[in-house]
Amino acid sequence: MKRLVVLGAGESGVGTAILGKKEGYEVFVSDKGTITDHYKEVLRNFEIEWEEKQHTEVKILNADVVMKSPGIPDKVDLVQKLNAKEVSVVSEIEFASKYTKATIVGITGSNGKTTTTMLTHHVLKHGGLDVNMAGNIGDSFAKQVAEKDAPFYVLELSSFQLDGVKDFAPHIAVLTNITPDHLDRYEYKFENYIASKFRITMNQNEDDYFIYDADDEVITTYLQKHPIRSRLLPFSLKRKLENGAYLEEGNIKITIDNNKFIMPTTDLSLKGNHNVKNAMAAATVSQLLKIRKTTIRECLENFHGVEHRLENVLKINNVQYINDSKATNVNATFYALDAMKSATVWIVGGVDKGNDYSELYSLVNEKVKAIICLGVDNAKIINAFGNCVDDIVETQSMKDAVNIAYKMAERNDNVLLSPACASFDLFKNYEERGRLFKEAVREL
Ligand code: ADP
Repeated sequence: MKRLVVLGAGESGVGTAILGKKEGYEVFVSDKGTITDHYKEVLRNFEIEWEEKQHTEVKILNADVVMKSPGIPDKVDLVQKLNAKEVSVVSEIEFASKYTKATIVGITGSNGKTTTTMLTHHVLKHGGLDVNMAGNIGDSFAKQVAEKDAPFYVLELSSFQLDGVKDFAPHIAVLTNITPDHLDRYEYKFENYIASKFRITMNQNEDDYFIYDADDEVITTYLQKHPIRSRLLPFSLKRKLENGAYLEEGNIKITIDNNKFIMPTTDLSLKGNHNVKNAMAAATVSQLLKIRKTTIRECLENFHGVEHRLENVLKINNVQYINDSKATNVNATFYALDAMKSATVWIVGGVDKGNDYSELYSLVNEKVKAIICLGVDNAKIINAFGNCVDDIVETQSMKDAVNIAYKMAERNDNVLLSPACASFDLFKNYEERGRLFKEAVREL
């Protein structure tokens, strides 16, 4: 019997353990932290052996294959020891993909993964496909393969998940964009992070497709230096493309081998230029998978959006309150400000990840009337934008931030929470930050 060791008992680890058990492995799960009661119960039900608060090396180094959770960096001692023994260390995505014959759409990028994944799934499902959605969303891919496998998957893939793939090849790969992120895990080298994202194409062949943002110079430069085998289907807001998606006179136009799709951007339910790109990616995938064009258009018109991503909360006194708490980096906030159609009171701040605010200057000058800094350390923001706006104030409470915004905003303005920073100084995570914003708005 082959031995599967799972490091990390989160959603992906426990899912892999369940799939391993079903496929006849002897399974051992080890977590250096504590395992939640829920997952302990699941492991018990499947009669899977586990340990917590430690990694017992003798039980781990004898594995035939090890699944490592994406949160565990490669450089930790235990992983180094496994590598020295030439034990195969893979991610959940790699392991699970071996046990399904499904057509896989893999979606990665620095921003827009969740939105594009959910939008694509929405179209494919309404187009009549039996399609599952996994990755960072909902039940793990491995668990779904074990318990409710389907002929199609849309997977949201982080760079950490891609780091652990060896043979995994999505039939359709989507790369939404690449901007610096998570550099602490990549020896502070942007090129390592870029290479990690491109692992999504690494095992693709001539029958597969690669959909990507042709306006993103990081992506196009990499492609020039490292040609890939799959068929390229770029999308662009800036120039006409013979094959792929582009914008012309306010319409999204997609051509794939002379098969054409057209839709006015004003019909898209999700607003902002970034969402035009996300819609182009989702529509290209859907067209490849032969979904009817009327269905694609309907679904792009009625998709209700994803919580904490430019989410319209309420309109009060004709002021629109918008929750974009998931904007944890400057690029995401760039597109949020870009999408604002009227003067905006902007709530920004949190844990700075080495932000360079210069790319926001012109948007802030053009659209932002007041700034509310919501973080423990706001000095960098005040430094960057102090001269751009009349009002810049500081607070460490979401309630205060919303109350101040309420006083500052006038009819037809927006109040936008788009922090451009991580949330861990004042909040548990970006979800809590967004929830508290919405609660404070509803109490106004
Ligand atoms: P991810 O899953 O990659 O973090 P999300 O879809 O959750 O991406 O969106 C994260 C943030 O980035 C949100 O603030 C959202 O408004 C913004 N965003 C969404 N799509 C894009 C895009 N294509 N380019 C830049 N920013 C985007």
